[in-house]
Amino acid sequence: MAKIINGKEISGIIKDELKEQVKALNAEGKYPCLAVVLVGSDPASCVYVNNKKKGCEYVGIKSLSYELPEDTTEEKLLELIARLNANDEVNGILVQLPLPKHIDEDRVIKAISPDKDVDGFHPESVGRLSIGTKGYVSCTPAGIVQLLKRSNVETDGKECVIVGRSNIVGKPMALLMLRENATVTVCHSHTKNLQEICKRADILIAAVGKPKMIDASYVKEGATVIDVGIHRMEDGHLCGDVDFDSVESVAGAITPVPGGVGPMTIAMLLYNCVSYYL
Ligand code: NDP
Repeated sequence: MAKIINGKEISGIIKDELKEQVKALNAEGKYPCLAVVLVGSDPASCVYVNNKKKGCEYVGIKSLSYELPEDTTEEKLLELIARLNANDEVNGILVQLPLPKHIDEDRVIKAISPDKDVDGFHPESVGRLSIGTKGYVSCTPAGIVQLLKRSNVETDGKECVIVGRSNIVGKPMALLMLRENATVTVCHSHTKNLQEICKRADILIAAVGKPKMIDASYVKEGATVIDVGIHRMEDGHLCGDVDFDSVESVAGAITPVPGGVGPMTIAMLLYNCVSYYL
């Protein structure tokens, strides 16, 4: 039976560490502050934004909330971002995605100052990650590295296979695993012999966006399996991109859904807000 990598517990430890760091920063007169911008009232986005605000409150980060109507123009949103970029009180800016269709997401992401880009989506943040200089790292992949480190999963010299090459998960994940000295293979929808490649992995990271696609036939005995996917099934229960029941008997360690990668994303967002001062 695989060891369960408990993201809920690990994210709780990180938040408690951050709480202490924020106390110490406050004592030096430094006050981390995140501006959270939500356009429209997509129910899932509202839940994410609320969880982010609750996370800030827990660790002692001040959060400023900007809830704009669905019909907000791109120009108005860009004006708000320019004001937040110039506001010295704010050190992190988060614009909840997706944005309404009439707003160009790329333009909005590029408008956020790379120095306040706590989501790590700005092309400059991605460039810094790519060449290995200091910068904000996309929260979900950064959270996965923490899960591996804090579960004592060796990455140095290990075969890591990532299924998925999106800008927010797959690609930054590959860059981070390279930084951790793994030998990295990135698979996507055009990859031939996917099962065979996945079976080579000491660390298999599934970010494919297909419920339960990765079953035991993709997994080497004893491998560590990280499930990034999150899907709500018709009966209401949540599952990932990995078929947990099938893979659990083959893997050495595995993240559950829920309670694996998901909670780490917010913990790393909070980390990014605090790291501005570290
Ligand atoms: P995307 O849909 O942007 O990317 C999916 C990737 O999987 C693409 O690169 C695609 O290839 C590849 N892919 C699709 N089908 C196959 C296939 N049959 N074989 C091989 N590769 C395939 O998804 P995201 O990266 O945004 O998210 C991935 C999953 O992670 C989703 O379930 C999402 O909900 C979840 N997620 C969870 C987060 C969390 O906090 N837990 C945060 C972000 C995402 P191609 O490029 O060729 O199209």
